[in-house]
Amino acid sequence: MCEHPDLTFYHQDRKREYWQCQHCQLVQVPPQFHITTEQEKAEYDKHDNQDDDSGYRHFLSRCLNPILERVDSSQLGLDFGCGEGRVLSKMAQEAGVSVNNYDLYYADDQSVLAQQYDFITATEVIEHIYDAKGTFELFDRLLTANGQLALMTKRVIDKEAFSRWHYKNDPTHICFYSVATFEWLADSFNWEFKCIEKDVVLFLKYNLPE
Ligand SMILES: [Zn+2]
Repeated sequence: MCEHPDLTFYHQDRKREYWQCQHCQLVQVPPQFHITTEQEKAEYDKHDNQDDDSGYRHFLSRCLNPILERVDSSQLGLDFGCGEGRVLSKMAQEAGVSVNNYDLYYADDQSVLAQQYDFITATEVIEHIYDAKGTFELFDRLLTANGQLALMTKRVIDKEAFSRWHYKNDPTHICFYSVATFEWLADSFNWEFKCIEKDVVLFLKYNLPE
């Protein structure tokens, strides 16, 4: 994330190693343990996230609702990593708020990334992306001056909990964030940060007046 060279061994299981940056605290799987792009897409294709699935809608609402409480219908959002069903944007539309969709595999329209947004949601996305630094720099560029970013990802607690964590066993999960990493991100981008609930965090970008 921070390009600090000081990585230390964090954990090893039957399939992969996990290393932690001593600076931003991000835990990552080294590239030699990553699956191929084709294997990754095949894993995502297995997830049949239908928009009429009330369980999936409830899951997405945990990330979307904190945003909907803080925006109005004049504001435009982006669902980054929207998935095949683009369900979150449909839910926002039902609440009267417009949300564009981007997904590397299912909605790869670069023009969507050529404008700015009042808010961005990314539910269960950042744990899949190895280029954490590039992704957060992109979020920073995509957000308007007072833009908001809502992220859903499960958090690293400590080594002991990590060793028993089913979340790390998904072969497409390669980056694991903790509160310390989110605090580091907020500091380095000059954002405000708050934990909304167990798996959801909210960042507020603010630019100091010139
Ligand atoms: Zn780092």
